[in-house]
Amino acid sequence: MGKSQRSADVVIIGGGIIGLSIALRLRQEKLSVLVLESGEPGREASHAAAGLIAPKFEPATEPFARMAIASRDIYPAFCVELRELTGVDPEYRSEGTLMPLLSAEEERWAADLTGSADDSVPLTKLTRGEVLSLEPSIAPEVHSGLLVPGDHQVNNRMLLQALLKAVESLGARIQRYTPVRAIRVRSRGELLVESDATHYTGGTVVLSAGCWSHLIEMEDPSLRPPTRPVKGQMVALQMEPARLLTHNVHSPRCYLVPRLGGRVEVGSTVEEVGFNKRVTSGAVEKLLHAALSVLPALQDCSLIETWAGLRPGSPDQHPIVGLTSVEGLLMATGNYRSGLLMAPITAKLVTELIMTGRAPALLEPFSPSRFARADAPLARI
Ligand SMILES: Cc1cc2nc3c(=O)[nH]c(=O)nc-3n(C[C@H](O)[C@H](O)[C@H](O)COP(=O)(O)OP(=O)(O)OC[C@H]3O[C@@H](n4cnc5c(N)ncnc54)[C@H](O)[C@@H]3O)c2cc1C
Repeated sequence: MGKSQRSADVVIIGGGIIGLSIALRLRQEKLSVLVLESGEPGREASHAAAGLIAPKFEPATEPFARMAIASRDIYPAFCVELRELTGVDPEYRSEGTLMPLLSAEEERWAADLTGSADDSVPLTKLTRGEVLSLEPSIAPEVHSGLLVPGDHQVNNRMLLQALLKAVESLGARIQRYTPVRAIRVRSRGELLVESDATHYTGGTVVLSAGCWSHLIEMEDPSLRPPTRPVKGQMVALQMEPARLLTHNVHSPRCYLVPRLGGRVEVGSTVEEVGFNKRVTSGAVEKLLHAALSVLPALQDCSLIETWAGLRPGSPDQHPIVGLTSVEGLLMATGNYRSGLLMAPITAKLVTELIMTGRAPALLEPFSPSRFARADAPLARI
């Protein structure tokens, strides 16, 4: 066994958007925080994401919508706070999301969205003329469209830079290149977190290792959160002129997210292919074909980046967040397609949980216990 260090009040496993946002809030409560990260922080799914802060297009269960909207609503303040703490601007934008409908079939598909009783994120129907006056470069054959004023975006890479800087400046320790292998229960009210060289102890441990969370060993295997990797590939183009597009565009074919400075990101595939981040020519071809059919003017623009990331999938596509049956062990994972969106509210509620010992009501539906074996004994220290 490697040497063991009393490390911090809270040990966080994984330095993606979820782990770092929790670290920020815990430091503001004056707890000592250690983040163990197997590589560079913020370089996995959180780096790969499109940055859509878009509750409308995610699973429409009521608890999910409540939490997503609560997070969307505190996002602007979160970004201002990070900018003020660090000088790095996460580029929060609230122009809304436009859904251009380019065929009768797409209009029928969208009728489900407008016809549903769910008006938690309202949308407005647009005529063809209205779509083109908002975004003149959309394909001229567009039939009609929808506008979702409440769906926004952030530049996730800038946000991660700001968050990392803020967390470090507030005094959290980030231990890079430290893959955690196991979490063990110790006798004196502490948990032992094992990496290859060193073992760490903490009164509270938060498992936020994204799609890798289920790989961390535990004495009771039923405690492992049922995460899995869901690959997403994306491409980016440089718009000429830079303001060819100003709204997020969420077409049934693909989505396009314009950044300040003229970069536009196009996503995304959803692939169940395990831990594989290869960019494939077939996916790039499909994404470009879809993007050009929505915004033909992109055909003269430079292709500047292709990439892939692994979303932390969960069996019901909902986050896995909250207390486990092991005292002091919390999960904050399984955010699938919405981890960027969910980060500020997750950090706020997990911090509240750690400070009070009680799960806030908004978090209850996402408890890890919904996946625990019915006959699993309650683990105790
Ligand atoms: C193509 C794509 C587009 C997306 N678009 C959006 C979007 O528009 N909006 C949105 O809200 N969400 C989006 N998502 C989803 C979002 O990216 C994820 O839900 C979110 O980033 C998950 O954050 P995380 O911190 O849980 O995981 P990650 O960012 O993956 O971070 C987990 C961290 O844990 C570390 N780690 C893993 N194993 C260990 C270990 N054993 N020990 C220590 N550290 C470990 C990893 O290195 C990593 O840094 C998208 C995802 C993809 C792939």
